[in-house]
Amino acid sequence: MSKAVIDLRSDTVTLPTEAMREAMLAAPLGDDVYGEDPTVNALEAQAAELSGKQAALFVCSGTQSNLLAVLSHCQRGDEYIAGQDAHIYRYEAGGAAVLGSVQPQPLPFDERARLPMDQLPHALKEDDFHFASTRLICLENTHHGVVCPQSHVLEVAQFAKAHGLQFHLDGARIFNAAVATNTSLKTLAEPFDSVSICLSKGLSAPVGSVLCGSVDLIERARRTRKMLGGGMRQAGLLAAAAQLALSEQSSKLQNDHDNAKALAEAIGELPGVTMPTPETNMVWLRLDAPVGAAASDFAKQRGVLFGGGADRIRLVTHRNFSAEQIEPAAQVIRDFFNQVA
Ligand SMILES: *Cc1c(COP(=O)(O)O)cnc(C)c1O
Repeated sequence: MSKAVIDLRSDTVTLPTEAMREAMLAAPLGDDVYGEDPTVNALEAQAAELSGKQAALFVCSGTQSNLLAVLSHCQRGDEYIAGQDAHIYRYEAGGAAVLGSVQPQPLPFDERARLPMDQLPHALKEDDFHFASTRLICLENTHHGVVCPQSHVLEVAQFAKAHGLQFHLDGARIFNAAVATNTSLKTLAEPFDSVSICLSKGLSAPVGSVLCGSVDLIERARRTRKMLGGGMRQAGLLAAAAQLALSEQSSKLQNDHDNAKALAEAIGELPGVTMPTPETNMVWLRLDAPVGAAASDFAKQRGVLFGGGADRIRLVTHRNFSAEQIEPAAQVIRDFFNQVA
């Protein structure tokens, strides 16, 4: 029998906890499109409370949550500013443009997922019929496992306020930032008009995200969710697991962060590789030579999976990666680089 695979591709591979499975079986259910699923209602109240927003909406994915945020803040012909490398711009199939006729205005993120403050005023379109109307700015925290500094968030919030813009956070992994900086979700979310949180990544729920914001915004998002076919009936089955993601799993992410640090240390210095100290649950290896695909094939044959690209490797720690797997995973990576160097 082959050894168990060590899967470091993403924290999305986490399976629901035993407690989640039990809660799913026991959850009181109703038709959530009628607003009658008590478990969904409880989850939405819990997410609103935790994020310090008036309301929340349970949706099927982070992509849908971000899309609903853009479509709820913006009208057809409006524009949103986002990082060139932000998920909401780059990895969501152009949904806001395709489905909402909302044009993106990407700007480069720096290494800490900061937007260039000197370029923001130029990106902002003045009120002139030649231009799309700039309506929204989006940030991401964490971005590639890096925490976006709250000082930057506050600076952008001030800019947004001064120009009457809405402000959205793609907080897919916001709890990783909360744990890494020992700051509450409420504090991190406070400067934003809306926050999207993934429950199915490090938090281990099987499915789902929540979008948090004002009552008005969430009502608009609810209508658009229905339009997109995202109205789910007895969704309490999923919300039951999501409740535990927020309550029990969010504080346990420190373990993933500790494992990421230990994994980086176990890999150590390698020829042709630069590896910054991981801040949360992602270890990045920057490669001098474009050997990412070869490294990935080599590791896969030895039962270790990871992602990345030609010039980088991404190792994501999560609840279903244990401390005992650190050394075997590190060994495979060391073997590859010591062999090709
Ligand atoms: C994963 C992710 C999303 C999208 O979540 P899905 O549930 O996979 O659609 C959005 N933003 C960021 C930063 C993510 O990492």
